[in-house]
Amino acid sequence: MHDQRLLQRVDPYEHEDAFGFLSRVATANHLKDACQIIGHCTGNSVGTMKYKDISKIAYFCLNTTSEISQLSGIELARSEGNRIWQVSGEQISKAAFLCFRNSRVCPQCLADETYIRGCWSLTLYTVCAIHKTKMIDECPACLKKIKWDRPSVLHCLCGTDLSLVSPEKAGPHELLLSQLIAQRGLAHIKPIHSALLDYKHIEQLSKLSLDGLCKTIWFLGHCIGNLGKYGSGHGSKILSLYEANTVISQALDLLQAWPNRLGARLDELSLRQPSNSTDSLINKLFGPAQYYLHESLQSQELHFIRTAYEQFIARIWKGCYPEHIPREDKVQLEFAWGLI
Ligand SMILES: [Zn+2]
Ligand SMILES: [Zn+2]
Repeated sequence: MHDQRLLQRVDPYEHEDAFGFLSRVATANHLKDACQIIGHCTGNSVGTMKYKDISKIAYFCLNTTSEISQLSGIELARSEGNRIWQVSGEQISKAAFLCFRNSRVCPQCLADETYIRGCWSLTLYTVCAIHKTKMIDECPACLKKIKWDRPSVLHCLCGTDLSLVSPEKAGPHELLLSQLIAQRGLAHIKPIHSALLDYKHIEQLSKLSLDGLCKTIWFLGHCIGNLGKYGSGHGSKILSLYEANTVISQALDLLQAWPNRLGARLDELSLRQPSNSTDSLINKLFGPAQYYLHESLQSQELHFIRTAYEQFIARIWKGCYPEHIPREDKVQLEFAWGLI
């Protein structure tokens, strides 16, 4: 069976979603679905395409390895619990940035050309940058979530043609972020004038890697924006469209008048009652944000976020101590921040 090849070749689009591509190959060859192709080629039908399997899948599907290796959603590497994926030709380092199992589509894009765009699996890509409308993740006919492993990329399992759905207009925050994401893969999306951020900040965000842009929005909109609202483990949660939009709005709000709003927000957060854990005070107050900063914001391109955050935190502990912080904690913190 391993020398078998399919009969009908399908041309992949640039940065097409790998799983969506295999769904189209399955349809063209009268197979059940993409999982059947992955299962046949790898002996494992989990529905993830791994880098090491590219040549087998390419051979079976009558494609070249370079055609297959540029697809989005391929798992490039995995070590010690960390994984790297490829999306729109760039590397993504956090599972939370990807929503492979929560399928989202732009109906109008599907009407233009029937394939799944790679950037649709980014958690923070919540509206279509081309059509300026909301992505949909639910079928308006059967009211169920659109299944990621549906056999036809165009149809819900109930048979509804997803390209005929009328989506709602995008909000300004989500549109700006989707444009920042899409401009790197789609040449005709031009930056970008928005009343939300001045040109200098839009430029700065435009220059970030896709992973760096996602980390920036995640840190500001989720780690800072939702601080205190989630317990530990929040970092691995895949956000719904609604939750992702909240995170985006909160992040862009802090990026406005950068970095002053971040400073005001951190001041506000420092006045909360710290949790009762035995952790250091800084972790009691800013735990998830601290952890994320040290774990994930260490690259040079994110220096501007790191220095702004650290300067404000240092200022909080130097100048305006909240009343409820005991003296010994203050000393410990000053020491930790290099102030004494
Ligand atoms: Zn679209
Ligand atoms: Zn349906």
